Amino acid sequence: MDTFPDPPSPGSAVGGVSESPVAPPLPGVASSAAESAEPAELQTLLAAVHQARPKDDLSPISTAYHFAAKYHEGQLRASGEPYMSHPTAVAGILAAMRMDVVSIETGLLHDVVEDTLVTVADVQKAFGEDVARCVDGVTKLSKIDFLSAEDRQAESYRKMLLAMVNDIRVIIVKLADRLHNMRTLDSLSPERQTKIAKETLEIYAPIAHRLGMGKVRGELEDLAFRYLDPDAWAEISHSIDSQRTANEEYLERMRRTVEEELRKEGIPARVESRVKRAYSVYQKLRKQKISLDQVYDLMGLRIITDSVKNCYGALGIIHNEWRPVPGRIKDFIAIPRPNLYQSLHTSVVGPEGRHFEIQIRTDEMHRIAEEGIAAHWKYKEGRRGVQDDQRVAWLRQLVEWQQEMRDPGEFMSTLKVDLYPEEVYCFTPKGRVIILPSGSSPIDFAYAVHSEVGNTCTGAKINGRIVPLRSTLRNGDVVDILTTTGHEPSKDWLSIVKTSRAKNKIKHIINQNERVRAIEIGQKYLEKEARRLGVSLSRVKADDLEAVAAEYGLGKTEDLYAALGYGKFSARQVLQKALPEQSQPEPAPVAPPPQPRAAGTDLEDSIKVRGVDDVMVYRAKCCNPIKGEAIVGYVTRGKGIAVHSRSCTNVTNLMYDSERRIDVEWARNTTDSYPVRIVVHTDDRPGLLAQLTAILSDENSNVRSLEARTVMDERNDSALIEMTVDVRDKKQLEKLCGAMRRVSGVRDVERLANQ
Ligand code: MN
Repeated sequence: MDTFPDPPSPGSAVGGVSESPVAPPLPGVASSAAESAEPAELQTLLAAVHQARPKDDLSPISTAYHFAAKYHEGQLRASGEPYMSHPTAVAGILAAMRMDVVSIETGLLHDVVEDTLVTVADVQKAFGEDVARCVDGVTKLSKIDFLSAEDRQAESYRKMLLAMVNDIRVIIVKLADRLHNMRTLDSLSPERQTKIAKETLEIYAPIAHRLGMGKVRGELEDLAFRYLDPDAWAEISHSIDSQRTANEEYLERMRRTVEEELRKEGIPARVESRVKRAYSVYQKLRKQKISLDQVYDLMGLRIITDSVKNCYGALGIIHNEWRPVPGRIKDFIAIPRPNLYQSLHTSVVGPEGRHFEIQIRTDEMHRIAEEGIAAHWKYKEGRRGVQDDQRVAWLRQLVEWQQEMRDPGEFMSTLKVDLYPEEVYCFTPKGRVIILPSGSSPIDFAYAVHSEVGNTCTGAKINGRIVPLRSTLRNGDVVDILTTTGHEPSKDWLSIVKTSRAKNKIKHIINQNERVRAIEIGQKYLEKEARRLGVSLSRVKADDLEAVAAEYGLGKTEDLYAALGYGKFSARQVLQKALPEQSQPEPAPVAPPPQPRAAGTDLEDSIKVRGVDDVMVYRAKCCNPIKGEAIVGYVTRGKGIAVHSRSCTNVTNLMYDSERRIDVEWARNTTDSYPVRIVVHTDDRPGLLAQLTAILSDENSNVRSLEARTVMDERNDSALIEMTVDVRDKKQLEKLCGAMRRVSGVRDVERLANQ
């Protein structure tokens, strides 16, 4: 019962379309004598389309039919039928889905480019851009061999998606094509049967499922199952049939009871019996490792009513009548499945103690469950009456897009589908698809386009709007990267980008640039130091410098300059090693000033750099490490060594160049103390502040600043006390915080990382 009618009968779906077996006079069809001469299959098709879309001009369909018939003339299907029977049947399936005229035309023309001399350009000339694009898409899909040895799964899916995003109608026509091919698979060789059935099960049925097209999916699965495992299929189908016969009376009794009870409560509803599909029974047997007679929900009922309220009302009535099986109530109305499926499911213990599944949904939900994405074509007709709040987010978004579109025809062609949640599919303005991990930024996009685009990227537009480079890309975004010649990547980008490609490229450029600068700085240091010592650098031979470099374990003189520039060694050390013994300068009578200090950094005596003396060291402001904490050094460009706390979040980002990481440790005996910012969250109670300051003075801790303010929150007044205090080391800080936490009224004490 969950199959498309074949031959299609357009009135089969819910929604109140009345049956009319006779083709009415059709608008747009030439009213000449030729009309009566139209082939019967075309007349049937036109009648079906007219019924589903009474306002549409159908003349393009007739034209497409005759065009295709002319070029397929003389060709036969494997079954021996005229070839044209296939595209006509595909168009019929699309008409039954109530697809638009462009889709029907595409259905009729879908094989002309592949199997005749017609080109896409010819199709465009005769039928316009939309049809040409769709025919082109279907043709391209047909050429993809999803089951070839290497080109399987992910990559193929992606290609498929690629076509899909181009115009969703391509996929729907392809699914209709596949459905008809599956229905007529008998005429092919067993090898072809297996291959096509496998592809159907692995590629097309899941896509139909993802698009919410339950009906197509079900039929594709059952047909494929039949060819892939004929024995299992026969056994299960037979069993379903016999159970249906055996349970007909039981089912009918249940149905009548449900109808009766609903009527009593004034809930308008249609109650249908429902039989599980062969393939889904098969899956259940395999998954749960049970035998056929243990499948209790082979049969069930489906209640279709008019509103969400009545869905829940009906559920109440059912549960009042029969005891629900615990844990089997599923509310897909409140939480729809990702493919938009909505329904209430419940299992009850029916008469004779038998378990029995009942599904409850509205007409609207039923149509979406059966037709999925194809159901949305109807909105274009301007039919309203769908409660907005029932639709899940992306469906609402579709409508928004539709309103934003200048051309409503663009609506479906820009529909994006989230088949791969871990990936995001974006486009260049020219329509090239860029696949990125989800969470990617415009910078990732830029690097995926080209490294130069990435390096010179200064801004981005998403769907025509300027956005920050930090933005997260979403499926279907059209990303336009703005570049400026000569611009270079920033270090901050490393914390934004998701792809390793972008990360590596950025690191590479930054390292390269910093090295160039470090070499320059290193050379200048050396010259300056030489001047200061009164020696001429020209006396230092290149060989000597190279020897010094080698002594430090560096390959080239350039590396030595770079190390100098980074601040790894002092210029003085290098000069002493490089100068010939006799020309060693006398130690300066006055103690030489220390290495040039960058303004504003307070240099530390309390931190030792392992293995090197006489280097500039300062504590990084971002994490303000204090004695006792695990620390790590980072060789900066010309400013010496920045010391971070190992837990500093900047460290993970900064440490992209392991070359520049350096071991540091706290000096044993220092009496330095460090300013630390502390925030105390407290109740707003008098006297509390005095208690806190008493703790500080007990510890001999100097308070540099203190600020208390009252915070109004929901429950009661609370206070926030922020202070900067001097502490000697981690131990003392912990002691202070512990003591403050024990004061009654103190809720939390936290240390702020930055100074
Ligand atoms: Mn075909």
